[in-house]
This record gives sequence, structure tokens and C-alpha cells, in this order.
Amino acid sequence: GRVLVPYGQGRIRGLDAGELGAHGAAMDRLVALGLPVVPGLTVPAGASASLCEPGTARAAVELVEQVSGRRVGDAGRPLLLRLSAGAPTEIAGLPPDLACLGVTPDNAEALCAVIGREEALYEAWAASVRMIAEYALDVPGAPLDDALLDTPAPRARVEALLALVARHGSQPFPDDPAQQLALAARALLARWDTPRARRSRRAQRLPADLALALYVQALRIGPADHSGYGTAVSRHPETGRFSPQGSFFRGVRRSAPPPHTGEPLDRLAGGTALLEHSLLTLERHLHAPVSVDFEVRDDEIALLAASAQQRPPLRASVCLAADLAREGALGREEAVLRITPAQVQELLHPQFRLTGTEELLVRGLPASPGAAAGVIALSSERALELGADGTQVVLVAHETTPADVPGMLASAAVLTGSGGIASHAAVVARGAGRPAVCGADGLRVDRAVGTVRIGGRVLREGDAVSLDGRSGAVYAGALPVSVAGPPPDLSTLLEWADETRRLAVRVNADTAAEVDTAVALGAEGVGLCRTEHQFLGERLPLIRRVILAADPAARDEALVALERAQHEDFRALLTAVGNRPVTVRLLDAPLHEFLPAPGQALDAAEEQRAAALREANPMLGLRGVRLALLHERLYPAQAEALFAAWVDVAATGVRPALEVMVPLISLPEELAAAAAYVREAADAVAARTGVRVPYRLGTMVETPRAALLAGELAEHAEFFSFGTNDLTQLTYGFSRDDVERQVLASYQERGFLTASPFARLDPHGVGALIALAVERARSVRPGIKLGVCGEHGGDPESIAFCDGLGLDYVSCSAHRVPVARMAAAHSVL
Ligand code: PEP
Ligand code: MG
Repeated sequence: GRVLVPYGQGRIRGLDAGELGAHGAAMDRLVALGLPVVPGLTVPAGASASLCEPGTARAAVELVEQVSGRRVGDAGRPLLLRLSAGAPTEIAGLPPDLACLGVTPDNAEALCAVIGREEALYEAWAASVRMIAEYALDVPGAPLDDALLDTPAPRARVEALLALVARHGSQPFPDDPAQQLALAARALLARWDTPRARRSRRAQRLPADLALALYVQALRIGPADHSGYGTAVSRHPETGRFSPQGSFFRGVRRSAPPPHTGEPLDRLAGGTALLEHSLLTLERHLHAPVSVDFEVRDDEIALLAASAQQRPPLRASVCLAADLAREGALGREEAVLRITPAQVQELLHPQFRLTGTEELLVRGLPASPGAAAGVIALSSERALELGADGTQVVLVAHETTPADVPGMLASAAVLTGSGGIASHAAVVARGAGRPAVCGADGLRVDRAVGTVRIGGRVLREGDAVSLDGRSGAVYAGALPVSVAGPPPDLSTLLEWADETRRLAVRVNADTAAEVDTAVALGAEGVGLCRTEHQFLGERLPLIRRVILAADPAARDEALVALERAQHEDFRALLTAVGNRPVTVRLLDAPLHEFLPAPGQALDAAEEQRAAALREANPMLGLRGVRLALLHERLYPAQAEALFAAWVDVAATGVRPALEVMVPLISLPEELAAAAAYVREAADAVAARTGVRVPYRLGTMVETPRAALLAGELAEHAEFFSFGTNDLTQLTYGFSRDDVERQVLASYQERGFLTASPFARLDPHGVGALIALAVERARSVRPGIKLGVCGEHGGDPESIAFCDGLGLDYVSCSAHRVPVARMAAAHSVL
């Protein structure tokens, strides 16, 4: 009773997967689910050797005849047997299946006549004879291999192999199916005992004495028009929807068929209804995308194997999670937990379809995710030219500055030789949703001759490269990119994530277009509008003229122009924001980005003024509020433009919740002075328009001193936004523009750091400063609004840290908003 166990009876007889093997247990489960399985039986692991005995083998043949309703040797409805082996879990290195047990030189012709195709049967038969000859009948392997190689025709092969057995074998090849089965069992078990199989077990850390279960299946032979075999998965890889995909082969199944070689499933003999029902039932049972092997006889399908799909396409997992939750088979929160923030990221950005044959030129820092191919442009001007007529361009530069932004926006991707993931190029590319690789070692641009050295190769402007901003890889040539957008069910999962999360998610956006993109991706407001980004490209002189004005009259004139430009910008921005909150940060312009390069000033006097302002450490120099305290009309001009724009927009019925933010504070006095400028501006606009604009005033916390003095700052500030880019730079003393390429790379190699602190918030140092600032600020102003707007606002681990501190929101670039929504939900669940 425990030696031969028909499929479906294992559990009833008290056997588990250890004895039945993974396949036997799966067949049991399919029977219990009421699904059609191929007739067959399991010889449990503890008893498998007994199948080598002719008596047991004979009983097995009779049992399979009984469950299949056919008889081996019956010419009308012929039956053959297949023997296979299995372990308790799916493992590599199992002996191959032996199909075609029961064929003899006498009945082969008749079988071929039934199938209508001769090669399939002879090929399968040759494989069985080959294996039995070597492992059960002691025929040396070499002449067997020679016979296979020298004899291309399948039928002649079988004859050659049988002749070798007759000459060298310990006994002739039997015609009796039970004797064939017993020898086949001996061959499989002997093969499991070879040094090669033992090595494979050791490599997989499997026990040396792991016993196999054996399976004897009915191989029902029928006409090729009405029979065959195939494989199918439950979901479409691109859409993720339930839509069985696979292929179908006519003839006799020998082993797992090669993928994508058969006929499409819609040609399946007997139709696809039962296959679809089986896949759907299995998905509901396993809560996973599934794959099956099946067989069709006389137009009827029977399953040979079924399991959760190995590494299912991400889209399939997303749609299945949503389907299961909609049907009530899973809770919404469970469905949300099934997709990680990193997977959300993966779904949002195009990727290369890699084949492994690509030429990798260099690997730089993964600065902005996504994949794009294009031709090299070595200057922004060239990128603009090429981009204007629709050419896909990759802008390649040593580094980028604000003047390059228009060229970056005209490009499909950006590659730089210097700079880290918080560098200008990286921040701009992420904001604009362009893939970028930064800090590519050894990148040498020679603009004069129009070449660039990337890795070991010298490429010319116009040559194609492909760039993966998630891995940092740069490839030669134009690689194909998958373009399908995220599946609609991702939006559903994200909506469920929104129901769960506590943290609000805002966007770092500088323009109305970026706000529109971000709102569509689920942003609840703007957490950081960097006003200096509104002076890029041809707008740059507006700030330059303020900074370099020769006299007060020239300065006032420059300020009027700046205010006018800002008014337009803010009106567009606030209109896009609608009734949501928006944090506008007053100018934080590192001077070097806005001064003319040496020799580029208008005249000698301007060159002299510029030279006087050049700094050795611009990121530690006349930045942020410090510039505003030297040019006292700067912030009032900006704030007046902002408030006046709010009045305009409010007249249309929209009331954005305005937050005005002061950057780079380290002294409470700086904040108090800046706050006074803003108040003056509000008063001036109220006097002019009769409207008192409601707003909150707050500060960036991005220097260690600001964090330490958070209590004092909170007396002047109604909100804090942690600028973790600068706070990381200043806490470690790591230049955010330079340190990643060498120092951090070496620190990561040594194991000092597992990730760049510019990408993942350092919980012990930077994080401790934030925690302390939160505590001190709340003790002074309990309801103070707190957020993060550094790059960490889009990193899942950093988001979990912020959630733990009870911050109100995180703010990140538009294309990371969905990632942040999912991360904020996972942090709660
Ligand atoms: C920061 O420092 O984290 C920040 C958001 O400001 P910026 O990146 O503009 O310096
Ligand atoms: Mg900053």
C-alpha cells in the first residue's frame, strides 16, 4: 500500500512531500483541487529501490493501466510509460526523464502510424535506450555517444543503440514493459549515485544520501492532430493581466520543451478552457503567478506539473496582488506589502532588454534611474541642436553647471565624469526624470577634436551609447529599451498604500510642468521649490546682474527685472499647485554657479568685481541667507513677487497654502533678519493690493548648528525642512560634489559604509542630529511642521527613519513620489 501510490492518494495515505517528492505532492494537490492530472503513481522516496524489482515494476504497470484505462501494447489506444525522479524540493541535477517505456521493435511501426510522425517517437526512444544501456546494462558510454553522433536519423539511432546493447550489454534490451521499467528505475537511481550527481548535491548543500521519489506516468499515444504537450504561465509578461501564455508541441514529450518554440496556445487541441480554469484555480490557491506543464490526449488536457512561477515578471505580481485583493482573497494591506518600493521604482522607469552580449564601457554612480540610448553630444549647445530635430541625445560632460540645464533637458540622458549622486547633474536629472550616470571614472572629454574616452574606448560625438541610471552601467551602441509604462494596477496598489501611510509625500519641483507631473504621480504638495533653479540658462544674467551691479542704481534696476521674472514663475507654479501646500525657498545660489567664468565678464570692471567674489569653498561661502544679508533687497524682491503672484492666483479662486523658507541658516539671528524681510514684503503687498496673504515662515535645517539650535530657531519658524544633502555634507565634512568617486568608493570597499550617506540617511550621525532638532523644536513649538527635502526624501530606508521620528512629510523628486508613497506605507505596516 505504501510502495505504489496513485496520484492524489499520498496525503490520504499519510505521506508528506519528503516521501512523495515535490512533484508527487504537487500532483496530490492538483487532484485535491479537482484539476485534471496525467494518470500516474508515486513510488515514495523510502521505497524507490523496490521499483527495480520485476514484481513491483509489473504491479506499477498494471496500476497505471488501471488508472489510465488503457493497456500497454494495445494497438487501438496505445499506452507507453514515462519514468521520472524527484526530490522534496525543486533541485538541479536530477536524472533526466525516461519516456517511451513500452516501445519494442515490433510495435514501433504501429505507434508511429497512430502519431503520424515518426521522428518524435524514435528520438524519445533513443534517449531512453541510451540511458538504460549505460546505467543499467553496463554498456560503456563512449560507443553509445559515438553511435548517437554518427547516426543522424532517429530510427537508425535506435537500431545502432540496440545493437550495442546486444553486443556489450549484461543482458539484451527487454521487450517486456515491466522489465524495461525495472531497468529504467535502476538506471535513474544509478545515475543519482554517480560522482557528478554527488558533486551537484554538495554544491547545493543537499544531504549526500538524499533519496528520490520515482514517478510512473501514463504516456497516452494519440494522433498528432489531437495530442501533444506544452507549458503555460498564467499571466502576460508585459501587461501582467491574467492571460495564459505558452506554447504547444505535437508529438511525444521527451523532456522539458525548449521555451518559445512551439505553436501558440490558441492552436491547442481541444481548446484552452480547461487550461485557463486550471491556471486560475492554481493562482487562487498558491497566491502567485503560476506555471504548468501539460499534455493533451484525444483533445483532453492533463497536467504534468504545476507550481508558483519562478521569478515571475514584476508586472504579473503587481496585477495578481491587486486581483487577489479585489476578490477578497488578500487584504489590501497584504497586497501593498507584496510590492517593494524598489519594485515600484523598477516599474516606473524604462529598462534595457539585456542579452549578456553588450559591451560595457564603464560603470559610474547610479545617479538617476531609467535607461536610455542616444548619440553622444559633448556640449549643451550640440545637445540642443540635435535634440531640436528629434534625435535622442546623451549629453556627455566632465560636469554640468546651471548653464547646462537647457541642454540636459534636450537630452535623453546625462553622463558625467565627476560629481556624485548629490551633484548638480544628478539633482537636475532626477528632477527632470532623465537617466544619469555620474562620476564615471576615467572619462576624458576632448571638445576640440570632438572625442571622449569612456572606459578603454575613444568615441566621437555622434556615436551611440546606452546608459542605465539604476546600475550606473554605460554600454556601447544603442540598446533596445522596454517602453511599456507601469500597469494600471500599480496605481490601485499605490492608492491602497495612501490609505495606510502616515507620512505625507510632497515633491521637490521648481516649475509648473514638474508640479503637474508630480501631482499625476500622487504628490500632495510641493516640499521644496528651489528658486535659484528659476534662473538657469538664459535667465542666469538676472542674478548675475544683481550680484555684480556696479552701483545702487544698476542693482535696483536688476532687482526689478528679477522681481518681474519671479512674478511670472510663481504665478505659473502656484496655479499648478492649486489648493495644496507649497514651500518656496528663497534664493540659495552658490556664487560660483552664477559668476562669469574668468575672462567671460562683460568688461574689465565686472571682471574685477567677479574676481573679488570668487571663493575657495563656494559651498561654504556666500550662499543662502548669507547672500541675502549682503544684498538686502534680494529676499524682499523675491517675497514680494511671490505674494503678488498669490494675490493674482487667489483671484481665480485657488488658494495655495504658502510656506516661505529661508536656506542655510546657522544662527538664529540670520533667521530673524530674513523673517523681517519677508514680513516687510507681505506688508508692502498688502498695502498695494489690499490683500493680506496668509503664509507660514520656516527654515531649512541643513547645518549641524541649526540642528543643535533648533529650539531657538523654532521661536522664529513655523516649520522646519531638513536639508539632508547639506546636513550630510557638513556633518561628515564630505563634499557632496566630490567625495563619492574616491573616498566613498574606498570606504564601501573596506566595509566602513554600506551605502553612500548622500543616498541613504546616516541614522547614527545625521539622523541623531535630526532627532535632536525634532525634540528641541517640539519642546518650544509643539505643533511645528517638520519635513525632509534632501535627496533622502525619496529613499525607502531613509523614509522609514523619518516616519519613525514622526515627521509630517518627505519631499522628493517627481519620479520618486510613487516610490516614497509605497515606502511610507511599508514603514507603517
Ligand atoms: C539640502 O541641502 O538637502 C537641500 C534640499 O538643499 P540643496 O540640495 O538645494 O542644497
Ligand atoms: Mg541645501
